[in-house]
Amino acid sequence: MKDNVRVRFAPSPTGFLHIGGLRTALYNYLFARHHNGRFVLRIEDTDQSRYVKEAEEDIIKSLEWSGIEIDEGSENPGKFGPYRQSERKEMYKKFAEELIENGHAYYAFDTTEELDQMRERLQKSGNPSPKYDTITRQSMINSLTLPSEEVRKRLDAGNEYVVRLKVPRRETIRFEDLIRGHVSFESKGLDDQVLLKSDGMPTYHLANVVDDHLMEISHVIRGEEWLSSTPKHVLLYQAFGWELPKMAHLPLIMSPSGGKLSKRKAESEGIPINTKDYIEQHYEPEALVNFLAYLGWSPGDDSEIHSLNDLCRLFTLDRVSKGGAVFNHKKLLWYNEHYLREISDRKLAERIKKIADNEAVKNADNEFLEKAIGLLKERVSKIDEIITMGSFFFGDPEEYDEKAVKKWKDDSSELVLAYKEKIAALDEDQFEAATLKSLLEEVINAEGVGFGKLMMPLRIATTGQGFGPDLFASMELMGKESVLRRIDTAVKKLG
Ligand code: GLU
Repeated sequence: MKDNVRVRFAPSPTGFLHIGGLRTALYNYLFARHHNGRFVLRIEDTDQSRYVKEAEEDIIKSLEWSGIEIDEGSENPGKFGPYRQSERKEMYKKFAEELIENGHAYYAFDTTEELDQMRERLQKSGNPSPKYDTITRQSMINSLTLPSEEVRKRLDAGNEYVVRLKVPRRETIRFEDLIRGHVSFESKGLDDQVLLKSDGMPTYHLANVVDDHLMEISHVIRGEEWLSSTPKHVLLYQAFGWELPKMAHLPLIMSPSGGKLSKRKAESEGIPINTKDYIEQHYEPEALVNFLAYLGWSPGDDSEIHSLNDLCRLFTLDRVSKGGAVFNHKKLLWYNEHYLREISDRKLAERIKKIADNEAVKNADNEFLEKAIGLLKERVSKIDEIITMGSFFFGDPEEYDEKAVKKWKDDSSELVLAYKEKIAALDEDQFEAATLKSLLEEVINAEGVGFGKLMMPLRIATTGQGFGPDLFASMELMGKESVLRRIDTAVKKLG
C-alpha cells in the first residue's frame, strides 16, 4: 500500500452540490485528517453536455462553508495538477493508445445506426439487454475484426472512432472493499466500455482511473452508486499494470419514506437537497457536518455531539455501515438547535442584523436585540426563526394568529383590562417580569379564574401569537408604554 494517505473528492460539475456529495467529501476529508493525509478536489468535467458553469464555484463554496479544507485543487494546486479533467485531455489519449498497444483496448468505428441495428437484432433474438461484448464485438467494425491496413487507413483518413476496453470473456473480477468486504462481479455481465469518445474526450472510467493513479490516490472513498463501475476500474488497473487503490463504497442515503433520497423524493418530503439550500436557509454548518458524519457512521458509543476536529480524530472506515442511512430531518434540526444555543447572544445579534430584511430588526439597539435573542433562542431550531418568532419585539402585532384568536373569549377583554389597570400603576423601573407575574396572579385570584384565562389573551394582545418566549420577561423587554398600547389595540380589535 502507498505510504501516504491521499484521497480525493471528484465531483462532476453538473449542478449544485447535493447533500450526498457533501457527505462523500466530508468522509474523505475526515479520513485524510485522521491519517495526516491530503484531501484533493478534482473536477471531473469530461462530459461537456452536462457541464454547468456555476457548479465548480458552488462546490468550492459549499466545502468552505462546511469547514472542509481543500489541500490540493485548482485554486491551490499541488504537484499533481491540473485538477480539472478538461485540462488533462491530451494525457488520456496517450493512455488509451497504450492500452490498444498492449491488447487491452481497441478502436471501434461503428456508427450510431450500426450500433442501433446490432441492439435491435439481438433484442429480436431474445436478448433483452444487448451489449457490445466479447461475442458481439466479433461482428462489429473495429480493430479486432478489420485488417490492420484498413484500420490504419481509417485512422489516417480521420474517420470517427471510439476506444473500447476489451473485457475478458469469462472472468470473476474480485476486490476488497473496506466497507463491504469481499466483492465480486462476473465479467460476462460487462460491456466493452467506451474509454475514449469520438470527440477525443475520455469517459468517466478512463479519466477516473488514470487520474487516481497519477495523483497517487491511496483510497477511493465514494458513494455506493459507483460500486458497479468498480469492476471496470479493476480491469483498467490490471490492464495498465497499476496497483488498485483501496476501495470504500459508502452506503446510500435513504429517504424517510424508503428508497434512495432522490431530488424528487427530498422535495416531496420537505428535505433540502443541495448544500446551497442549507446555506440559504441559515442552517449552522457545524450542525449539518455533525449530522452528515452520523449518516452512515458512528463512533461506536452513544456520543452524538462532535466538532469537525473531534470527528477527524474519531473517524474510521471500519465504523461506516453497509446498510442505507435514513435521512432524519428532525435529527438535523436537533443538531441545529444544539449548535445555535452554543453561540453567544452578541454573535447571533450580529448575524441576525445581516440576514434580516425587517428594517426595525436591522436598526435595533444591540442591547435590546441581544436580550430578545436570549429569550427566543431556546425555542427555535434555526437562527432565522428568531426573527419570525420575535417579530413582535420590533413592532406592534399587525394581525393576530388565527388559531390563537380562537382562545380570545367573551371575558378576555374584561380580564386583560383589569390587568392593565394594575400594571399601569407601576413606575417604569418597577416594570419587571417578577412584578408583572405577581400582578397577574392577583387578578386571577380576585376574579376566581385559572391562569390560562388571562395569560392566553394577554399573550395574544402583546405578541399576536399563541405561543412564544416567557411572557413576563418579554413584556419587561417591550416596556410599559408598548404593553399598555398593545392591550388597548387588542381590546378594540378583538372585542
Ligand atoms: N465524477 C464522479 C461523481 O460525480 C466521481 C465518482 C468517483 O468518486 O469515482 O461522483
